[in-house]
Amino acid sequence: MNEKKRASIPKKIEKLVFQEAQSKCAFCAVTDVHSLEIHHIRGREDGGANEPDNLIVVCGNCHSKITFGVLSLADVVTKKRELYWTARQALASAQTTPPQPKTGIHQEIHGNGNVQSINTFTTPPTVKKVIERREGSITSDECRQVQEWIEALAEGTIGMSRADAYPMWWGYFKKAFHLEKYEELQSMQMVEAERWFRMQRARQTRGLKSKAPDEWRRERYTAIKSAMTKMGVTNEHFYPEVACRLKMKTPFTSLKHLTKRDLQRVYDLALRDARMS
Ligand SMILES: [Zn+2]
Repeated sequence: MNEKKRASIPKKIEKLVFQEAQSKCAFCAVTDVHSLEIHHIRGREDGGANEPDNLIVVCGNCHSKITFGVLSLADVVTKKRELYWTARQALASAQTTPPQPKTGIHQEIHGNGNVQSINTFTTPPTVKKVIERREGSITSDECRQVQEWIEALAEGTIGMSRADAYPMWWGYFKKAFHLEKYEELQSMQMVEAERWFRMQRARQTRGLKSKAPDEWRRERYTAIKSAMTKMGVTNEHFYPEVACRLKMKTPFTSLKHLTKRDLQRVYDLALRDARMS
């Protein structure tokens, strides 16, 4: 299925998307080329296009996590925006580096003979300014980006309704940047804002395992079950087989009996199997 999807993405676009991702999985940074795939953020069955904006590079494992809902759409969209911004910033900083005078060898071919002339050219190449870094408040695109960050944080907040989490995160954000209104954020601060967001998000993800272990376990149960359904295997067959393959001392009859560590191992294995099947 993935092969078919990928095959239909024009090579030129595929190249762009891999460049943006620096040929790494967007989530786990795996660089093994053979495991990298392109995921349609908005499924093609839902009208998602083969456009760079709708595509993200992920490894097979992380692709399964998306398929089985362990990584949510919000996670994927957020990650895509991060990639976009990182690539944009890299481009912008490359363009603000003062151009160095260049010395080079200039080769010319005249008529039927091959005349080489060595000359030094000291005129720096003109740098085209593609990225506009505005002095002043954030643009509407940047506003949208901040909104998406806050939304992702609100959605990832455990034990609180989205309606409560949303204003709470806006409050934290404004406080962190000493703002009355978020629109006052300066364009130049977007880098810092992104760093803030990533930090909050990382903390949130770490917190899920320790602060909301039930939630964490439930997500794993659901994913393992979906993987098993996909493979068409039953508990009776799959559990003993997994216990054996993972060299567990005692077999298990319910996922609920597994330690955190073993649950994670079963999860990794089941998702990998489902992918291969
Ligand atoms: Zn990955």
